[in-house]
Amino acid sequence: MLLGKSASGQLINLAEPWCRKDLERIRKTELFSCPTCAEKVQLKLGTKRIWHFAHFDISGCVGLHEPESMYHLTAKRQLYNWLKEIHPFVEMEPYLKRLKQRPDLLLRKDSAIHAIEFQCSSIPDEILQKRTRTYRSHNIDPYWILGHTRLSNKSDCVFRMDDVAWNAIRCHGKNDPYLIYYSPRTQQFLQLQSIIPFSSRTVFASLDTQSLSNASFPLVTDLDTHRFPQSFIQPWKNLLQQTRMYIHLSRDPAVYSLKARFVEKGIPASLFPVEAGIPSKFLYWFQSPAYVWQSRFIIELIDPVPVGQSIDFQQVYRYFLNLLDTYKLKRRFLTIKTNSHISFAIMDYLNWLALLGVLKRRSATQFLKVRDIIYPSTIAEANQKLGEILKTISTN
Ligand SMILES: [Zn+2]
Repeated sequence: MLLGKSASGQLINLAEPWCRKDLERIRKTELFSCPTCAEKVQLKLGTKRIWHFAHFDISGCVGLHEPESMYHLTAKRQLYNWLKEIHPFVEMEPYLKRLKQRPDLLLRKDSAIHAIEFQCSSIPDEILQKRTRTYRSHNIDPYWILGHTRLSNKSDCVFRMDDVAWNAIRCHGKNDPYLIYYSPRTQQFLQLQSIIPFSSRTVFASLDTQSLSNASFPLVTDLDTHRFPQSFIQPWKNLLQQTRMYIHLSRDPAVYSLKARFVEKGIPASLFPVEAGIPSKFLYWFQSPAYVWQSRFIIELIDPVPVGQSIDFQQVYRYFLNLLDTYKLKRRFLTIKTNSHISFAIMDYLNWLALLGVLKRRSATQFLKVRDIIYPSTIAEANQKLGEILKTISTN
């Protein structure tokens, strides 16, 4: 940690520009303690590592959940100095007694309080979610920034998101999720914007880079008005094609259950409907991939309705939600602050089906079935039709 207390009660913040001689002099005459737990700490003034305070034993400290790496301390010091430049009311490692939490940084800006947490290691879901909830219940905005080493990309627009990342996402006004990373090496923020999950851990997103020296707080998100950019079309098509080719190998219980349903219908699972796997908005409310839940939705709720009959949103939504467990489909429970809800994902999907000509919207919650769903006869046909659908989505 970067904050220590001298025996005389002086707080020493090592993110400030100290001179080594001064610190050495204080160290000779003073003992230091942890401002959070009051246990003895030592002041480390190495030449290779960043200066810091270290507990002799951190197990008893309520403020420290894990030993902090040099990477963490370096990032924290840089973030502190960046914030201090632009906002005077930033605190280093303040212990919030009522919350029993010690954020890396606390910023008071206008009437809001932001707890800035730099997370570079893996921590269990429950701890991250509990910290988020505790901050929110005290009207503090938990502002998670992940270490850039956690960012893993498969290509320019395809990324891997683990549980820590899912728990650290934020949403801006238009309900688009984004995620912030920081690299203390390059002193840059990296933002994943307009995150669209393909499966539980694979997402499509745009990566935006911003240098620390140019950044303001909160970070500006560079909003892309196209929620599904043209550049996503080919990689999305490729991934869905691979999915069709290897669906027989999937061990996902929801896919197993879906495959059994296809067998009943006499359809090879690889030829699931072309209207399934659509990158609609709010996909983040599902952990199960879009092609799985949308195939299930089509089979159970769209296929049985004859052309010319109506479909009521409330009805299909409730029915589908009640049967998620039966279908082994998984929802995602997020701690993000947003006005959206899993029902938005269903409504958005119905709207896409309307745009693709399967349904026709009659009122806010009523749809009319206009045509049957397309079950492709080959993977190549599915792929070609998907290309057309994605073009439509990208331009609407
Ligand atoms: Zn302590």
